[in-house]
Amino acid sequence: MIKYTPMIEQYLLVKAEVPDAFLFFRLGDFYEMFFDDAILASKELEITLTGRDGGTQEKIPMCGIPYHAAENYIARLIEKGYKVAICEQVEKPEEAKGIVRREIVRIVTPGTLMEGKMLSDSVNNYIAAAIAHDDKYGFAVCDLSTGELHVTSVELSLELLLDEFTAFAPSEMLGAADLVEQVRANLLLTSKAVVFTQWDSVDEQFTRQHFAAEHIKPLDPACLYALTLLMNYLSATQKRMLSHITHIRQYESNQFMMMDSFTRRNLELVETVRERSKKGSLLWLLDESVTSMGGRMLRRWIEKPLMQVAQIDQRLEAVDCFYRQLIIRDDIRHHLQQIYDLERLTARISYGSANGRDLLALQLSLAAIPALRQICLDSDSNTLQQLAKRMDLCEDVLSWISAAIVDEPPVSIRDGGIIRDGYHEHLDQLKEADRNGKQWMAELERQEREKTGIKSLKIGYNRIFGYYIEITRSHLVNLPEGTYERKQTLANAERFVTPELKEKEALILEAQEKMVDIEQELFIKLREQIAQQISRLQQLAEIVAEVDVYQSLATVSAANRFKRPYLTDGYSFQVGQGRHPVVETVMKSGSFVANDTHLSEEDGIVLLITGPNMAGKSTYMRQVAIIAIMAQIGCFVPAEHANVSLIDRIFTRIGAADDLIAGQSTFMVEMMDIQVMTEKATKRSLVIIDELGRGTSTGEGMAIAQAVIEFMHDEIGCKTLVSTHFHELAHLEETLSSLRNYCMAVRESNQQVTFLRKLIPGAADTSYGIYCARIAGLPESIIQRSYTLLNGFIARESIAPYETQQVAAAAEPFVQLSLFAEADKPQADKAKKKLDPKTEQVIDELRNADIINMTPLQAMNLVYELKKKLAEK
Ligand code: ADP
Repeated sequence: MIKYTPMIEQYLLVKAEVPDAFLFFRLGDFYEMFFDDAILASKELEITLTGRDGGTQEKIPMCGIPYHAAENYIARLIEKGYKVAICEQVEKPEEAKGIVRREIVRIVTPGTLMEGKMLSDSVNNYIAAAIAHDDKYGFAVCDLSTGELHVTSVELSLELLLDEFTAFAPSEMLGAADLVEQVRANLLLTSKAVVFTQWDSVDEQFTRQHFAAEHIKPLDPACLYALTLLMNYLSATQKRMLSHITHIRQYESNQFMMMDSFTRRNLELVETVRERSKKGSLLWLLDESVTSMGGRMLRRWIEKPLMQVAQIDQRLEAVDCFYRQLIIRDDIRHHLQQIYDLERLTARISYGSANGRDLLALQLSLAAIPALRQICLDSDSNTLQQLAKRMDLCEDVLSWISAAIVDEPPVSIRDGGIIRDGYHEHLDQLKEADRNGKQWMAELERQEREKTGIKSLKIGYNRIFGYYIEITRSHLVNLPEGTYERKQTLANAERFVTPELKEKEALILEAQEKMVDIEQELFIKLREQIAQQISRLQQLAEIVAEVDVYQSLATVSAANRFKRPYLTDGYSFQVGQGRHPVVETVMKSGSFVANDTHLSEEDGIVLLITGPNMAGKSTYMRQVAIIAIMAQIGCFVPAEHANVSLIDRIFTRIGAADDLIAGQSTFMVEMMDIQVMTEKATKRSLVIIDELGRGTSTGEGMAIAQAVIEFMHDEIGCKTLVSTHFHELAHLEETLSSLRNYCMAVRESNQQVTFLRKLIPGAADTSYGIYCARIAGLPESIIQRSYTLLNGFIARESIAPYETQQVAAAAEPFVQLSLFAEADKPQADKAKKKLDPKTEQVIDELRNADIINMTPLQAMNLVYELKKKLAEK
């Protein structure tokens, strides 16, 4: 057996507790790493790998970092997805018998950050735990830096679990090995990096001790198990009381609008698809929050739109109040600006890591509350008034801090200078002694200068030699030998002491040391006293955040001419002049074309939208989904008016770049999405399918598209928007009573095609693909050749028809399409050949009519004229 030195033996024992983390092992002023940790850390952190004698023949690999710089290094490792266990000396070297005792005091993991650069102000940092129990998955999620905790349980379906997972986007997930593996394998590759930790400790003891019995009681077993997993992990890594985690928020997933990860991503709710940046997302547009808590709450609201009309109306009512009254809005923003991140401040206070500046920040924040409360009380919004009534001003906490803490406290609580004069009698006496001592030194300096006649004589202080009298070399000749006791020789000066000086120094230093001790003690006592008030402060923080979100939504709504939506439990979904809020914002002002949306039994529930690429189909469909989401989070919407029914779930199937799940083909992903839609969509859902059936042959694609549309229409009856380049599907309007054809209007003139971005009834009959290719700058020779080929295809089609026709012959369900292709099309062509010149003229006139720019009356007149011409012939 290898015989290591006792210190390395101790290291190995501690390391065995944390095999999956870097162990930062405290040795004096350094954290050292050994063995494999050292080799890996030296690479990851680019620090020198050295060796240490460990009692073995070969040196043990070692690398270290100064303890005061640890935060930066820890952050770098966490960012790379590692965990770091901090091992400290837990007894004073002089008290130790043998080797100093060392213990892990905390394990820092990506999901358990409390502070530092890695923690973004406006984003919650969640850690989630999931567990399968009976026929359910339990799911618990917590932000340790704020103390927020949510639990729920869902049916035993991985999709539902993933939906919850992606709504919170945790940075760490805990669970049994197989479940963790399943989640990992099914997450979008481009999702935020998540660290997966195998963890299956389900002993309920800690959880039952931590929470009051009445909070645990309502939880179903799956929820309780998930919560237990989470709490045990937090306790094992944090190794301290978690008294800021007080409130369990249990929710049912159907309390909120459901969306899967694709949908969230496709609709760019909190980040863009391409850059994964907040800029360009809905959150970016809606975020005019002033406080960090407000920013985080807004994000949560966007991730979880509501499902109760009354609750949404309450929110809208508050937004409405700020929307209408610019002065109140400005006022409230002004007061919110004085408020720091109360949630994280209080969490740090209860965690025992808050410093003097944190308490000062809490004091300043609390001082801003009364004015904020008054504005809400005086407002004409019932929601705001109710919030104001629940605002606890926490005046006691405010007065404790203002009595104790100086106006500009230092960063470290170990430096002293944190506590105000007059707060503590003994401390004041020590401060007095300290001040007197310093005065005494000044007096001594004056006296000694006089005595010796050396004007440059000065009294100084350093940590090693304490107080001294310093005389420069050139003046030493004037100093009678033996005046002072020589202490230190510098290049150009000598330093001396006197017994009197030493005596006074002892008194001053003792006073200073005591002062620091007492200050630290008083500070910690105050911090603990405030920590007792944690739930009051947390509640206040939440109310402030809510007010902030209302003003944010109102500010954005007013700036962008959004209108208040009216929500119902019914079915009809009517939006007048709707816009896509983000596309509109990034475009030149005024250039976005608004479009209506009418979805009801009378207006149709399936909209089949045809039109060329780049015509605006996909923007329009997303716009409908975004308007539904905005309405259900309680925001005004980009439309002239909106009377909309609640949507319980949005499904999106949007083409392009979908090979995001490892090992799946694009088409397979599409089909799997559609499968989920067919299984989970209800009548109240909104389904958006962009370019259905693209990933396979034309015939098969069209066949699947038709079958899916029929299923949505007949079996589910959900609101469905489908865009397709299969113009042939337009005939479905004849057989599906609630399907309506729409297309994006295009104006053709002088070989120019203009996309009007206007949704109009009817089906498009061309894709303008080659035209788009020209706009994209393809060589003119390719464009011309394409037109030639196309004309050839069309000519041939009239004799030998589409590919679809062959498929139709082989596949039963295609009867309708083949009829269309075989019978209608050639006949239409033949008919065209036989047309008389008059009819041709009428058709030409119709073709060239600029319908978009006509009033309904002009259109009627045109039809009248044309009919008359036909009758005349
Ligand atoms: P499609 O899905 O038909 O290919 P998109 O929805 O992707 O077309 O739209 C193409 C571009 O057209 C968008 O990037 C946007 O800039 C512009 N666009 C879309 N809708 C509108 C609109 N209603 N008003 C103005 N521009 C629009």
